[in-house]
Amino acid sequence: MGQEASCNKCSFSFLGGHDHHTGISECVCTSCLTYFALPTASVWGPEVGERIQICRYAKSKKKHIPNYKKTGSSFITTKGEEFAFGDQIRHMVEYPIEEIPCPECNEKSLKVGFEEGDNCPKCSKGKVSLSAIIF
Ligand SMILES: [Zn+2]
Ligand SMILES: [Zn+2]
Repeated sequence: MGQEASCNKCSFSFLGGHDHHTGISECVCTSCLTYFALPTASVWGPEVGERIQICRYAKSKKKHIPNYKKTGSSFITTKGEEFAFGDQIRHMVEYPIEEIPCPECNEKSLKVGFEEGDNCPKCSKGKVSLSAIIF
């Protein structure tokens, strides 16, 4: 399950959340608008304490198969809020990505998600609105 953030004034859109088909999450730099892939060891999503490599998209000959290269930047996921999963207690996995300088422009402007009503990073006139997506 993910979230699509899209601007009401321009073509900006961003898919938040983890894609179980490709095993990647995505982040976007709100300064230079570069998108990066965040592949996890398991396609089902990240573990708490997992080191995630920030990867740059590369051109792929095969459509629908994401192709990416490590940028050398990485971060460790942290433990977020607890939630009940059946009779187990699990934790949300947080990406402390605001602390990481963008591999492209060096600004600490990476985001893995947007809030409803955020200013659009592309046109800065529009507002971002969210819609839920079931992968
Ligand atoms: Zn950047
Ligand atoms: Zn916009």
